[in-house]
Amino acid sequence: MKKYIFSLLLLLPLLLSACVGGGESTAGESIPEISDDGRTVIVLDAGHGFGDPGCGSEYMVGTEAEVTLDMVNRLKDELVSLGAEVILTHDGEAFPASEEIIDICVTHGIDYREDLVVEDTVFSAYERGVYVLALSKETPIDMFVSLHVNSFPTDPTVDRYELYYYEGNPYSALLNRLCVAFSKRLDNKTKIAPLDYENAYIVTKYGDYPSVLVETGYASNESAAQKLNSPAWRAEFCKALAEEIIKAVK
Ligand SMILES: [Zn+2]
Repeated sequence: MKKYIFSLLLLLPLLLSACVGGGESTAGESIPEISDDGRTVIVLDAGHGFGDPGCGSEYMVGTEAEVTLDMVNRLKDELVSLGAEVILTHDGEAFPASEEIIDICVTHGIDYREDLVVEDTVFSAYERGVYVLALSKETPIDMFVSLHVNSFPTDPTVDRYELYYYEGNPYSALLNRLCVAFSKRLDNKTKIAPLDYENAYIVTKYGDYPSVLVETGYASNESAAQKLNSPAWRAEFCKALAEEIIKAVK
């Protein structure tokens, strides 16, 4: 049941976002300054892992968790080469224990909702979100990026990149600019979906730093899966994303 709720939390925005338009220009809207402490700190999250492999398919080699972990490490290397400091929510080996997250939340007066925690073997979307929020109180975060692979087995023709953020994020105009710029680097038809609070992915809803969830492709689509399988394609995707992240936060 708990697992079911977790899956539903992840799926709900996807199911509902089909009716949300994306890609609108928000030029002219004022964006608050990102921390001007001279550091560029990017937090990266490889979606899933541990007791939750995420999606997979007959076409994709490995699970979503394995693919996103490899891509997060590539993205990290690219960002570091561009001068950023990178923090990972987890390294694939271990994730922060509930006690550790509770401690840091208590220190910073953040409410930790134990009723939203799934189970000990899963680093839930809620725990990731609240963990990054707590980290942001210790180190100003310039951007949070969560990487995923999508899947829609009932219609294997679905093949697109998707970029999701919470429309109420104080940096939503910056996020829109990032998404439009990254879409141009990819295919110019990436789905860009600002979502309302109810429907936004939980990891993108917390904090006053820009947060974006990137669906890197559909495992259920054969040609998308072939790209996801390709180290050269992963390298190219992560290089382009790193460059656009740095442009967006500078
Ligand atoms: Zn996912």
